[in-house]
Amino acid sequence: MSQPAERYIAHATLVANDVLAKHAADVDRQARWPSESLAAVAQAGLLGLTVPATLGGAAQGPRTFATVLSTLAEQCASSGMIYFMHICGTQVIAGASNFGQRDDVLKAIAAGKHLSTLAFSEKGSRSHFWAPVSQAKAAGDGCKLSADKSWVTSAGHADSYVVSTLAAGATGPTASTLYFVPKGAPGFTVAGQWTGLGLRGNASTPMKLDNVSVSSTDRISGEGEGFGVMLNTVLPWFQLGSAAVAIGIARSAVNGTRKHLSEAKLEHLGQSLSSLPNLRAELAKMQIITDTQSAFLNHVAGKMENPQPDTMLAVLESKAAATEAALEVTDRAMRVCGGTAFSGRLPVERNFRDARAGSVMAPTSDVLYDFIGKALLGIPLF
Ligand SMILES: Cc1cc2nc3c(=O)[nH]c(=O)nc-3n(C[C@H](O)[C@H](O)[C@H](O)COP(=O)(O)OP(=O)(O)OC[C@H]3O[C@@H](n4cnc5c(N)ncnc54)[C@H](O)[C@@H]3O)c2cc1C
Repeated sequence: MSQPAERYIAHATLVANDVLAKHAADVDRQARWPSESLAAVAQAGLLGLTVPATLGGAAQGPRTFATVLSTLAEQCASSGMIYFMHICGTQVIAGASNFGQRDDVLKAIAAGKHLSTLAFSEKGSRSHFWAPVSQAKAAGDGCKLSADKSWVTSAGHADSYVVSTLAAGATGPTASTLYFVPKGAPGFTVAGQWTGLGLRGNASTPMKLDNVSVSSTDRISGEGEGFGVMLNTVLPWFQLGSAAVAIGIARSAVNGTRKHLSEAKLEHLGQSLSSLPNLRAELAKMQIITDTQSAFLNHVAGKMENPQPDTMLAVLESKAAATEAALEVTDRAMRVCGGTAFSGRLPVERNFRDARAGSVMAPTSDVLYDFIGKALLGIPLF
Protein backbone atom coordinates (compact mmCIF):
# COMPACT_ATOMS: atom_id res chain seq x y z
CA MET A 1 0.00 0.00 0.00
CA SER A 2 1.21 3.51 -0.79
CA GLN A 3 1.76 6.09 1.95
CA PRO A 4 -1.41 8.08 1.12
CA ALA A 5 -3.42 4.82 1.14
CA GLU A 6 -2.15 4.02 4.62
CA ARG A 7 -2.99 7.55 5.75
CA TYR A 8 -6.63 7.20 4.61
CA ILE A 9 -6.91 3.76 6.20
CA ALA A 10 -5.57 5.23 9.46
CA HIS A 11 -8.16 8.05 9.24
CA ALA A 12 -10.90 5.47 8.68
CA THR A 13 -9.72 3.42 11.67
CA LEU A 14 -9.75 6.48 13.91
CA VAL A 15 -13.19 7.63 12.78
CA ALA A 16 -14.60 4.09 13.02
CA ASN A 17 -13.29 3.48 16.53
CA ASP A 18 -13.91 6.96 17.95
CA VAL A 19 -17.21 7.93 16.33
CA LEU A 20 -19.00 5.12 14.48
CA ALA A 21 -18.55 2.63 17.33
CA LYS A 22 -19.98 5.16 19.79
CA HIS A 23 -23.24 5.77 17.89
CA ALA A 24 -23.89 2.45 16.10
CA ALA A 25 -26.15 0.88 18.74
CA ASP A 26 -28.27 4.01 19.09
CA VAL A 27 -28.52 4.44 15.31
CA ASP A 28 -29.76 0.84 15.09
CA ARG A 29 -32.16 1.12 18.04
CA GLN A 30 -33.79 4.30 16.76
CA ALA A 31 -33.43 3.47 13.05
CA ARG A 32 -32.03 6.99 12.72
CA TRP A 33 -29.69 8.64 10.23
CA PRO A 34 -26.08 8.40 11.55
CA SER A 35 -25.42 12.14 11.27
CA GLU A 36 -22.42 12.22 13.67
CA SER A 37 -20.76 9.31 11.85
CA LEU A 38 -21.28 10.74 8.37
CA ALA A 39 -19.97 14.14 9.51
CA ALA A 40 -16.81 12.44 10.85
CA VAL A 41 -16.37 10.44 7.62
CA ALA A 42 -16.67 13.67 5.60
CA GLN A 43 -14.33 15.54 7.97
CA ALA A 44 -11.70 12.80 7.57
CA GLY A 45 -11.63 13.40 3.80
CA LEU A 46 -13.12 9.99 2.99
CA LEU A 47 -16.05 11.12 0.81
CA GLY A 48 -13.56 12.07 -1.91
CA LEU A 49 -11.50 8.88 -1.55
CA THR A 50 -11.77 7.98 -5.25
CA VAL A 51 -12.07 11.50 -6.71
CA PRO A 52 -9.14 12.56 -8.95
CA ALA A 53 -6.42 14.56 -7.21
CA THR A 54 -6.84 17.40 -9.74
CA LEU A 55 -10.31 17.99 -8.25
CA GLY A 56 -9.13 17.80 -4.65
CA GLY A 57 -9.76 14.10 -4.09
CA ALA A 58 -7.57 11.33 -2.69
CA ALA A 59 -7.37 9.45 -6.03
CA GLN A 60 -7.41 6.06 -4.31
CA GLY A 61 -8.32 2.79 -5.99
CA PRO A 62 -10.31 -0.34 -5.14
CA ARG A 63 -7.86 -1.79 -2.58
CA THR A 64 -7.87 1.31 -0.36
CA PHE A 65 -11.64 1.64 -0.81
CA ALA A 66 -12.22 -1.99 0.28
CA THR A 67 -10.04 -1.59 3.39
CA VAL A 68 -11.51 1.79 4.37
CA LEU A 69 -15.06 0.48 3.89
CA SER A 70 -14.64 -2.79 5.80
CA THR A 71 -13.07 -0.78 8.65
CA LEU A 72 -16.06 1.57 8.80
CA ALA A 73 -18.62 -1.24 8.42
CA GLU A 74 -17.02 -3.23 11.24
CA GLN A 75 -18.14 -0.52 13.65
CA CYS A 76 -21.38 0.63 11.97
CA ALA A 77 -22.70 -1.29 8.98
CA SER A 78 -25.39 1.34 8.28
CA SER A 79 -22.73 4.05 7.91
CA GLY A 80 -20.66 1.67 5.80
CA MET A 81 -23.59 1.07 3.45
CA ILE A 82 -24.26 4.81 3.08
CA TYR A 83 -20.58 5.43 2.35
CA PHE A 84 -20.40 2.64 -0.18
CA MET A 85 -23.48 3.76 -2.15
CA HIS A 86 -21.93 7.23 -2.15
CA ILE A 87 -18.72 5.91 -3.70
CA CYS A 88 -20.73 4.02 -6.37
CA GLY A 89 -22.56 7.26 -7.27
CA THR A 90 -19.27 9.17 -7.26
CA GLN A 91 -17.71 6.71 -9.70
CA VAL A 92 -20.61 7.20 -12.14
CA ILE A 93 -20.26 10.99 -11.92
CA ALA A 94 -16.47 10.78 -12.33
CA GLY A 95 -16.91 8.79 -15.54
CA ALA A 96 -19.52 11.19 -16.98
CA SER A 97 -17.29 13.34 -19.19
CA ASN A 98 -20.28 15.06 -20.86
CA PHE A 99 -22.04 15.95 -17.62
CA GLY A 100 -21.96 19.75 -17.28
CA GLN A 101 -21.64 19.89 -13.47
CA ARG A 102 -19.17 16.99 -13.23
CA ASP A 103 -16.15 18.89 -11.91
CA ASP A 104 -18.13 21.09 -9.50
CA VAL A 105 -19.90 18.08 -7.99
CA LEU A 106 -16.66 16.11 -7.67
CA LYS A 107 -14.95 19.11 -6.01
CA ALA A 108 -17.83 19.34 -3.53
CA ILE A 109 -17.53 15.59 -2.85
CA ALA A 110 -13.78 15.93 -2.31
CA ALA A 111 -14.43 18.80 0.11
CA GLY A 112 -16.77 16.51 2.11
CA LYS A 113 -19.80 18.62 1.21
CA HIS A 114 -21.75 16.33 -1.11
CA LEU A 115 -23.22 12.86 -0.58
CA SER A 116 -24.28 10.76 -3.57
CA THR A 117 -26.28 7.54 -3.95
CA LEU A 118 -27.94 5.27 -6.52
CA ALA A 119 -31.68 5.19 -7.28
CA PHE A 120 -31.91 2.14 -9.57
CA SER A 121 -34.28 -0.51 -8.13
CA GLU A 122 -37.92 -0.08 -9.14
CA LYS A 123 -41.16 -1.49 -7.83
CA GLY A 124 -41.94 -2.96 -11.27
CA SER A 125 -38.69 -4.85 -11.95
CA ARG A 126 -37.77 -5.54 -8.29
CA SER A 127 -34.16 -6.75 -7.90
CA HIS A 128 -33.58 -6.71 -11.68
CA PHE A 129 -32.19 -3.18 -11.39
CA TRP A 130 -30.70 -3.32 -14.89
CA ALA A 131 -34.21 -3.20 -16.41
CA PRO A 132 -36.13 -0.13 -15.19
CA VAL A 133 -39.82 -0.10 -16.13
CA SER A 134 -40.07 3.70 -15.90
CA GLN A 135 -39.46 5.61 -19.12
CA ALA A 136 -38.35 9.20 -19.68
CA LYS A 137 -40.66 11.46 -21.71
CA ALA A 138 -38.96 13.89 -24.08
CA ALA A 139 -39.65 17.56 -23.18
CA GLY A 140 -37.83 20.44 -24.89
CA ASP A 141 -34.07 19.88 -24.78
CA GLY A 142 -34.49 17.45 -21.87
CA CYS A 143 -36.94 14.99 -20.34
CA LYS A 144 -39.56 14.46 -17.66
CA LEU A 145 -38.90 11.55 -15.33
CA SER A 146 -41.59 9.61 -13.49
CA ALA A 147 -40.64 6.47 -11.55
CA ASP A 148 -41.35 4.43 -8.42
CA LYS A 149 -37.92 3.75 -6.96
CA SER A 150 -38.39 0.96 -4.42
CA TRP A 151 -35.25 1.35 -2.29
CA VAL A 152 -32.86 4.30 -2.18
CA THR A 153 -30.13 4.26 0.47
CA SER A 154 -29.73 7.77 1.97
CA ALA A 155 -33.18 8.76 0.67
CA GLY A 156 -33.86 12.38 1.57
CA HIS A 157 -30.32 12.81 2.98
CA ALA A 158 -28.13 12.51 -0.13
CA ASP A 159 -27.33 15.74 -1.95
CA SER A 160 -27.88 14.08 -5.34
CA TYR A 161 -29.12 10.82 -6.83
CA VAL A 162 -27.96 8.78 -9.82
CA VAL A 163 -31.36 7.89 -11.29
CA SER A 164 -32.05 5.29 -14.01
CA THR A 165 -35.02 5.21 -16.38
CA LEU A 166 -35.57 3.77 -19.82
CA ALA A 167 -34.49 6.32 -22.41
CA ALA A 168 -37.29 8.28 -24.11
CA GLY A 169 -36.85 6.34 -27.35
CA ALA A 170 -35.87 3.00 -25.74
CA THR A 171 -36.31 -0.05 -27.91
CA GLY A 172 -35.46 -2.76 -25.35
CA PRO A 173 -35.70 -3.43 -21.58
CA THR A 174 -32.11 -2.39 -20.85
CA ALA A 175 -31.94 0.76 -23.01
CA SER A 176 -31.72 3.03 -19.96
CA THR A 177 -30.23 6.46 -19.38
CA LEU A 178 -28.73 7.67 -16.09
CA TYR A 179 -29.49 11.16 -14.80
CA PHE A 180 -28.10 13.37 -12.06
CA VAL A 181 -31.06 14.54 -9.96
CA PRO A 182 -30.30 16.93 -7.08
CA LYS A 183 -31.95 16.76 -3.67
CA GLY A 184 -35.11 18.86 -3.60
CA ALA A 185 -35.79 18.71 -7.36
CA PRO A 186 -39.52 19.54 -7.76
CA GLY A 187 -41.52 16.29 -7.97
CA PHE A 188 -38.80 14.15 -6.33
CA THR A 189 -39.97 12.91 -2.93
CA VAL A 190 -39.24 10.33 -0.25
CA ALA A 191 -42.19 7.93 -0.20
CA GLY A 192 -42.11 6.14 3.13
CA GLN A 193 -40.13 5.41 6.25
CA TRP A 194 -37.26 2.99 6.76
CA THR A 195 -37.66 0.45 9.55
CA GLY A 196 -35.64 -2.46 8.14
CA LEU A 197 -34.65 -5.61 10.00
CA GLY A 198 -31.01 -4.54 9.71
CA LEU A 199 -28.98 -1.61 8.38
CA ARG A 200 -31.57 0.42 10.21
CA GLY A 201 -29.64 3.70 9.94
CA ASN A 202 -29.34 3.90 6.19
CA ALA A 203 -32.73 5.42 5.25
CA SER A 204 -33.33 2.99 2.37
CA THR A 205 -36.88 4.16 1.71
CA PRO A 206 -38.78 4.25 -1.58
CA MET A 207 -38.63 7.50 -3.59
CA LYS A 208 -41.04 8.79 -6.20
CA LEU A 209 -40.25 10.88 -9.26
CA ASP A 210 -43.33 12.66 -10.58
CA ASN A 211 -42.62 14.54 -13.81
CA VAL A 212 -39.19 15.64 -12.62
CA SER A 213 -37.58 17.91 -15.24
CA VAL A 214 -34.03 17.13 -16.30
CA SER A 215 -32.09 18.79 -19.09
CA SER A 216 -29.77 17.07 -21.55
CA THR A 217 -26.80 18.35 -19.51
CA ASP A 218 -28.04 16.39 -16.46
CA ARG A 219 -27.42 13.14 -18.32
CA ILE A 220 -24.61 11.09 -16.79
CA SER A 221 -24.65 8.28 -19.33
CA GLY A 222 -25.07 8.41 -23.07
CA GLU A 223 -28.70 8.29 -24.22
CA GLY A 224 -29.78 4.63 -23.87
CA GLU A 225 -26.31 3.69 -22.57
CA GLY A 226 -27.08 3.44 -18.85
CA PHE A 227 -26.86 -0.35 -18.90
CA GLY A 228 -23.21 -0.21 -20.02
CA VAL A 229 -22.39 2.19 -17.15
CA MET A 230 -24.23 -0.06 -14.67
CA LEU A 231 -22.24 -3.06 -15.85
CA ASN A 232 -18.80 -1.57 -16.38
CA THR A 233 -18.64 1.15 -13.72
CA VAL A 234 -21.22 0.48 -11.02
CA LEU A 235 -21.12 -3.31 -10.83
CA PRO A 236 -17.42 -3.74 -9.92
CA TRP A 237 -17.49 -1.07 -7.20
CA PHE A 238 -20.87 -2.27 -5.96
CA GLN A 239 -19.73 -5.89 -5.74
CA LEU A 240 -16.51 -4.95 -3.99
CA GLY A 241 -18.32 -2.60 -1.61
CA SER A 242 -20.99 -5.17 -0.70
CA ALA A 243 -18.26 -7.68 0.02
CA ALA A 244 -16.33 -5.18 2.16
CA VAL A 245 -19.43 -4.35 4.23
CA ALA A 246 -20.12 -8.08 4.71
CA ILE A 247 -16.55 -8.67 5.87
CA GLY A 248 -16.74 -5.73 8.29
CA ILE A 249 -19.91 -7.24 9.76
CA ALA A 250 -18.29 -10.70 10.01
CA ARG A 251 -15.22 -9.25 11.77
CA SER A 252 -17.43 -7.49 14.24
CA ALA A 253 -19.26 -10.78 14.93
CA VAL A 254 -15.97 -12.61 15.49
CA ASN A 255 -14.78 -9.92 17.93
CA GLY A 256 -18.12 -9.76 19.72
CA THR A 257 -18.16 -13.54 20.11
CA ARG A 258 -14.56 -13.62 21.36
CA LYS A 259 -15.37 -10.98 23.95
CA HIS A 260 -18.49 -12.78 25.13
CA LEU A 261 -16.70 -16.13 25.44
CA SER A 262 -13.99 -14.50 27.55
CA GLU A 263 -16.33 -12.51 29.78
CA ALA A 264 -19.41 -14.71 30.34
CA LYS A 265 -18.95 -16.78 33.49
CA LEU A 266 -19.96 -20.29 34.53
CA GLU A 267 -19.63 -19.34 38.19
CA HIS A 268 -20.48 -22.80 39.53
CA LEU A 269 -17.46 -24.17 37.64
CA GLY A 270 -15.19 -21.18 38.25
CA GLN A 271 -14.75 -20.85 34.49
CA SER A 272 -15.81 -18.68 31.56
CA LEU A 273 -17.62 -19.87 28.41
CA SER A 274 -14.21 -19.99 26.74
CA SER A 275 -13.56 -23.21 28.68
CA LEU A 276 -15.93 -25.06 26.33
CA PRO A 277 -13.98 -26.61 23.41
CA ASN A 278 -16.97 -26.69 21.03
CA LEU A 279 -17.44 -22.92 21.42
CA ARG A 280 -13.74 -22.32 20.83
CA ALA A 281 -13.96 -24.43 17.67
CA GLU A 282 -16.94 -22.40 16.46
CA LEU A 283 -14.98 -19.19 17.05
CA ALA A 284 -12.07 -20.66 15.10
CA LYS A 285 -14.34 -21.50 12.14
CA MET A 286 -15.77 -17.96 12.17
CA GLN A 287 -12.26 -16.51 12.13
CA ILE A 288 -11.13 -18.76 9.26
CA ILE A 289 -14.16 -17.89 7.13
CA THR A 290 -13.67 -14.16 7.76
CA ASP A 291 -9.92 -14.20 7.07
CA THR A 292 -10.46 -16.21 3.88
CA GLN A 293 -12.98 -13.67 2.63
CA SER A 294 -10.68 -10.76 3.55
CA ALA A 295 -7.89 -12.31 1.50
CA PHE A 296 -10.22 -12.91 -1.45
CA LEU A 297 -11.51 -9.33 -1.27
CA ASN A 298 -7.95 -8.01 -1.44
CA HIS A 299 -7.27 -10.34 -4.38
CA VAL A 300 -10.36 -9.09 -6.28
CA ALA A 301 -9.54 -5.43 -5.54
CA GLY A 302 -6.04 -6.07 -6.91
CA LYS A 303 -7.54 -7.56 -10.06
CA MET A 304 -9.71 -4.44 -10.47
CA GLU A 305 -6.55 -2.33 -10.27
CA ASN A 306 -4.74 -4.51 -12.82
CA PRO A 307 -7.53 -5.94 -14.98
CA GLN A 308 -7.08 -9.43 -16.42
CA PRO A 309 -9.42 -11.61 -18.52
CA ASP A 310 -10.89 -13.25 -15.38
CA THR A 311 -11.39 -10.00 -13.44
CA MET A 312 -15.16 -9.83 -14.07
CA LEU A 313 -15.59 -13.43 -12.91
CA ALA A 314 -13.76 -12.63 -9.66
CA VAL A 315 -15.84 -9.46 -9.25
CA LEU A 316 -19.06 -11.49 -9.62
CA GLU A 317 -17.82 -14.04 -7.08
CA SER A 318 -16.78 -11.43 -4.49
CA LYS A 319 -20.24 -10.28 -3.37
CA ALA A 320 -21.83 -13.74 -3.37
CA ALA A 321 -18.89 -15.21 -1.46
CA ALA A 322 -18.64 -12.51 1.22
CA THR A 323 -22.33 -11.88 1.82
CA GLU A 324 -23.09 -15.61 2.18
CA ALA A 325 -20.03 -15.98 4.44
CA ALA A 326 -21.32 -13.14 6.64
CA LEU A 327 -24.63 -14.99 6.98
CA GLU A 328 -22.76 -18.09 8.13
CA VAL A 329 -20.45 -16.24 10.53
CA THR A 330 -23.25 -14.23 12.15
CA ASP A 331 -25.45 -17.32 12.41
CA ARG A 332 -22.63 -19.13 14.24
CA ALA A 333 -22.17 -16.07 16.48
CA MET A 334 -25.84 -16.21 17.47
CA ARG A 335 -25.57 -19.89 18.42
CA VAL A 336 -22.31 -19.50 20.31
CA CYS A 337 -23.54 -16.49 22.27
CA GLY A 338 -26.76 -18.31 23.17
CA GLY A 339 -29.77 -16.69 24.81
CA THR A 340 -27.77 -13.57 25.63
CA ALA A 341 -27.47 -12.88 21.89
CA PHE A 342 -31.09 -13.81 21.27
CA SER A 343 -32.20 -11.32 23.92
CA GLY A 344 -30.58 -8.53 21.89
CA ARG A 345 -28.09 -7.69 24.64
CA LEU A 346 -24.99 -8.25 22.48
CA PRO A 347 -23.76 -6.45 19.33
CA VAL A 348 -23.66 -9.81 17.49
CA GLU A 349 -27.46 -9.65 17.30
CA ARG A 350 -27.15 -6.41 15.28
CA ASN A 351 -24.44 -8.05 13.13
CA PHE A 352 -26.83 -10.94 12.45
CA ARG A 353 -29.61 -8.58 11.31
CA ASP A 354 -27.29 -6.30 9.32
CA ALA A 355 -25.76 -9.28 7.48
CA ARG A 356 -29.17 -10.36 6.12
CA ALA A 357 -29.31 -7.44 3.66
CA GLY A 358 -26.23 -8.27 1.58
CA SER A 359 -27.48 -11.45 -0.05
CA VAL A 360 -30.83 -9.90 -1.14
CA MET A 361 -29.37 -6.65 -2.42
CA ALA A 362 -29.20 -6.75 -6.19
CA PRO A 363 -27.55 -8.54 -7.84
CA THR A 364 -28.79 -11.05 -5.25
CA SER A 365 -26.77 -14.17 -4.42
CA ASP A 366 -29.22 -16.28 -6.47
CA VAL A 367 -28.70 -14.09 -9.52
CA LEU A 368 -24.92 -14.01 -9.00
CA TYR A 369 -24.74 -17.81 -8.84
CA ASP A 370 -26.56 -17.92 -12.18
CA PHE A 371 -24.25 -15.23 -13.68
CA ILE A 372 -21.12 -17.03 -12.42
CA GLY A 373 -22.34 -20.37 -13.79
CA LYS A 374 -23.13 -18.76 -17.14
CA ALA A 375 -19.73 -17.03 -17.23
CA LEU A 376 -17.98 -20.36 -16.55
CA LEU A 377 -19.94 -22.05 -19.32
CA GLY A 378 -19.46 -19.24 -21.85
CA ILE A 379 -23.20 -18.38 -21.88
CA PRO A 380 -24.01 -14.62 -22.21
CA LEU A 381 -25.18 -13.13 -18.87
CA PHE A 382 -28.08 -11.18 -20.41
C1 LIG B 1 -30.78 -2.38 2.90
C2 LIG B 1 -31.05 -2.23 1.45
C3 LIG B 1 -30.60 -1.10 0.80
C4 LIG B 1 -30.84 -0.93 -0.58
N1 LIG B 1 -30.39 0.20 -1.19
C5 LIG B 1 -30.62 0.39 -2.52
C6 LIG B 1 -30.17 1.58 -3.20
O1 LIG B 1 -29.53 2.45 -2.61
N2 LIG B 1 -30.45 1.73 -4.51
C7 LIG B 1 -31.12 0.78 -5.20
O2 LIG B 1 -31.31 0.96 -6.41
N3 LIG B 1 -31.57 -0.36 -4.59
C8 LIG B 1 -31.33 -0.57 -3.29
N4 LIG B 1 -31.79 -1.72 -2.65
C9 LIG B 1 -32.60 -2.67 -3.43
C10 LIG B 1 -31.89 -3.98 -3.73
O3 LIG B 1 -30.79 -3.79 -4.58
C11 LIG B 1 -32.88 -4.97 -4.36
O4 LIG B 1 -33.48 -4.39 -5.49
C12 LIG B 1 -33.97 -5.38 -3.40
O5 LIG B 1 -33.38 -5.85 -2.20
C13 LIG B 1 -34.81 -6.47 -4.03
O6 LIG B 1 -35.87 -6.82 -3.16
P1 LIG B 1 -37.17 -7.52 -3.78
O7 LIG B 1 -38.07 -7.88 -2.65
O8 LIG B 1 -37.74 -6.68 -4.84
O9 LIG B 1 -36.53 -8.84 -4.39
P2 LIG B 1 -37.11 -9.79 -5.50
O10 LIG B 1 -36.61 -9.37 -6.83
O11 LIG B 1 -38.58 -9.94 -5.32
O12 LIG B 1 -36.37 -11.17 -5.13
C14 LIG B 1 -36.98 -12.18 -4.30
C15 LIG B 1 -36.13 -13.43 -4.37
O13 LIG B 1 -36.10 -13.90 -5.73
C16 LIG B 1 -34.77 -14.18 -6.11
N5 LIG B 1 -34.61 -13.88 -7.54
C17 LIG B 1 -34.96 -12.74 -8.20
N6 LIG B 1 -34.61 -12.82 -9.50
C18 LIG B 1 -34.04 -14.01 -9.68
C19 LIG B 1 -33.46 -14.69 -10.81
N7 LIG B 1 -33.43 -14.11 -12.01
N8 LIG B 1 -32.95 -15.91 -10.61
C20 LIG B 1 -33.01 -16.51 -9.40
N9 LIG B 1 -33.54 -15.94 -8.30
C21 LIG B 1 -34.04 -14.70 -8.43
C22 LIG B 1 -33.92 -13.24 -5.27
O14 LIG B 1 -32.61 -13.77 -5.12
C23 LIG B 1 -34.67 -13.21 -3.95
O15 LIG B 1 -34.25 -14.26 -3.12
C24 LIG B 1 -31.55 -1.91 -1.29
C25 LIG B 1 -31.99 -3.07 -0.62
C26 LIG B 1 -31.76 -3.23 0.73
C27 LIG B 1 -32.25 -4.48 1.43
